[in-house]
Amino acid sequence: MTMTHEEYALRQDIISKCQFMNDSGINQGTSGNISARYGDHMLITPSGVPYDKMEPDMLAKMPIKSDYGSWEGPMKPSTEWRFHLDILTNREDMHAVVHTHSTYCTAVAITRRDIPAVHYMIAAFGGPIVRCAEFARFGTPELSANALKALEGRSGCLLANHGMIVTGENLDKAMWRAVELETLARQYYNTQLLGDAVLLSDEEIAGTIEAFASYGPKDEE
Ligand SMILES: [Zn+2]
Repeated sequence: MTMTHEEYALRQDIISKCQFMNDSGINQGTSGNISARYGDHMLITPSGVPYDKMEPDMLAKMPIKSDYGSWEGPMKPSTEWRFHLDILTNREDMHAVVHTHSTYCTAVAITRRDIPAVHYMIAAFGGPIVRCAEFARFGTPELSANALKALEGRSGCLLANHGMIVTGENLDKAMWRAVELETLARQYYNTQLLGDAVLLSDEEIAGTIEAFASYGPKDEE
């Protein structure tokens, strides 16, 4: 396969982010997957390959706006390619997608609750709640549709009885949000044990979103 230096570097970055997910404990085994936009294509991790065995040319490459579901590469794309592709198609402001079964996000998603404004960092996801998408079986068009709905105006959501999805303007931002969303879910989980959480108002979160836009964390790029 011939590819530009830029594409090769992006493939390497996807693999290093996969390894980071496992090293940081945010993901176990091969259940998580990562995609990124490269021009009018999506690069996505292949199905069932351990991250420490993954090489840049093993990633699958799928066209974003034509030949829906077709792919190039030596291995099949992740079984969750549909929501990755549909998100990149529908969200032109987002260029990377991370999906994991991280423990606290998944625990909250099993209760099928949205995450409320327990911490101001929820503003990093675009609003005062992070929604939980309705359940649908993995890999299905229904799951993708439910995820897109939960992601309306947001850059993260939970997936009922499954896990979570975050999006990013680039891979670094997507991975940053993956860590932030798992942290938020862990904080929410613990406040439920304490029992008397005080939630921030919609106005406070709107103000925080504005503040992030002018001098926000990780906005130096
Ligand atoms: Zn999954």
